[in-house]
Amino acid sequence: MMASRNQQRKRVLSGMRSTGKLHLGNYVGALDNWVRMQDQYECFFFVADWHALTTDYADTSQVKQNSLEVLLDWLAAGLDPERCTMFIQSHVPQHAELHLLFSMITPLGWLERVPTYKEQRENITEKDLGTYGFLGYPVLQAADILVYKGDFVPVGEDQVPHVELTREIARRFNMFYPRVGRTPPPPGIPGGVPMTGPRLVFPEPQPLLTPAAKLPGTDGRKMSKSYGNTILLTDPESVVRQKLKTMVTDPARVRRTDPGNPDVCPVGDLHKIFSDRETNAKVDIGCRSAGIGCIECKSWAADSLVQVLKPMQERRKKYEDNPRLAWDILEAGSERASKVASGTMNEVRDAMKMSLKYEAPSSAQGAK
Ligand code: SF4
Repeated sequence: MMASRNQQRKRVLSGMRSTGKLHLGNYVGALDNWVRMQDQYECFFFVADWHALTTDYADTSQVKQNSLEVLLDWLAAGLDPERCTMFIQSHVPQHAELHLLFSMITPLGWLERVPTYKEQRENITEKDLGTYGFLGYPVLQAADILVYKGDFVPVGEDQVPHVELTREIARRFNMFYPRVGRTPPPPGIPGGVPMTGPRLVFPEPQPLLTPAAKLPGTDGRKMSKSYGNTILLTDPESVVRQKLKTMVTDPARVRRTDPGNPDVCPVGDLHKIFSDRETNAKVDIGCRSAGIGCIECKSWAADSLVQVLKPMQERRKKYEDNPRLAWDILEAGSERASKVASGTMNEVRDAMKMSLKYEAPSSAQGAK
């Protein structure tokens, strides 16, 4: 069963955009790490369907199906609903409420200087990203994390500025709206005692740096859906072998007799991540001495990949055959997440003096 906060496990928050079936880059860059974190932390993992809209707002026809595909891959990779909470972002509307409140206090300049904002505005030219939602997506990320008062956010180096922005937003909120008043009395005793100092609503989450293994796609560039160079977690063995066959290699190996270098070869990178030590030793010696050919080397890499993917695909099948099971997991996760998120929102509204509770107008106070 899930551990609660008082069992001292730190809380981890992370999400993945609902982009559909996941590839090995998603696995190596995040998912594999999440699976390992389940027992160490209290983990909340969400499918970020609203984030998908920041760039793909024009056609939403696939968003829901894509969310389910992401969840199936999570379950296939070994995320376990008994050990972590999985849900869809848009099923917990408190994310949106907190996003709105944060958007009131976040200076524009903070958003305009986020490195990925500038980079994506320059690189993605086929879509109009001059929208309020795209500029504000780090504010939504801050809400995603802070609505659960996350202690840690697992990220790669390039995402550290986003966590820093979340910390800045938390700090700014705490500065404007410190909680003052009385601590609740023990049960059965009226009153309560005045707080000695302001109590801050939000902790400042820390980045949890994940070791970023270099995972090239079949064309040697970073594996990414937008490059069309992926190996999917759902690819059957025949497709994996076919994709490996066409994968680029060390350009120095023009002929079978030319020696190569696995350290500059994308197939060599795959071996380093997925093959055992013995295979890596064979590759290293064989490649550098031209003792093996690339075809043979690629077939060993395919063997290693298939070994990793097969058990995942077997696990996935159970949910593919009965997707309702997966949906039920999401619903239960959303319910669990909503409980935590609504507790935070009560504190937020209290701190902002905007609670939903009836309060007598100040002129009528004392008159009763
Ligand atoms: S033998 Fe293997 S590591 Fe060496 S260049 Fe060919 S595919 Fe790459």
